[in-house]
Amino acid sequence: MALGIARVRYVYESIQRGGDSLAKVLVHSDGAVTFECPGCGERHAINTNQKHRWAFNGDVDKPTFSPSLLVKSGHYVNGRTEGECWCTYNEKHPDKPAPFKCYICHSFVTDGKIQFLSDCTHPLAGQTVEMLDEE
Ligand SMILES: [Zn+2]
Ligand SMILES: [Zn+2]
Repeated sequence: MALGIARVRYVYESIQRGGDSLAKVLVHSDGAVTFECPGCGERHAINTNQKHRWAFNGDVDKPTFSPSLLVKSGHYVNGRTEGECWCTYNEKHPDKPAPFKCYICHSFVTDGKIQFLSDCTHPLAGQTVEMLDEE
């Protein structure tokens, strides 16, 4: 089923740590930076090494990215007219729902904090929270 954004599983090739504190993000050898989003409960990946890249301050303890991060899934990508999405899938399969949801996650990541904008569809919309530590 082809739905919304590509979900990539990264192998953590390089974990860069600064000092003794735990990193908030993982930096991968291909330039992607990933973090666990407390609003979505899943990892978001930020491409920092290709043409339309985000700027990353390189600090894994207090990461800053710009511009803002906007992640969309399911019917928020193409609109509900495109047919199936995670909502319709889960309506059809109430006994075996997919582990995904349709969502919008829009945030500014600054100094290790995530400012979720009000258009997020998750409960942390409008709040600013500390990023989670990587294990
Ligand atoms: Zn998120
Ligand atoms: Zn949906």
